Amino acid sequence: METRLLDILVCPVCKGRLQVNADKTELICRADRLAFPVRDGIPVMLEPEARVLTESELPAA
Ligand SMILES: [Zn+2]
Repeated sequence: METRLLDILVCPVCKGRLQVNADKTELICRADRLAFPVRDGIPVMLEPEARVLTESELPAA
């Protein structure tokens, strides 16, 4: 997926900026500790689809 996409994608919950995880399979909202899946290059920006992250899973700021 294109990095540029990150400039327009925001968290559907808090409207904050997102981070891509290391293997680019998830988009992470640090504020909500949610990881939204990226399926076949398409970010799934739906809260019910998101995974809740543990403290240790949160990426560095
Ligand atoms: Zn958020």
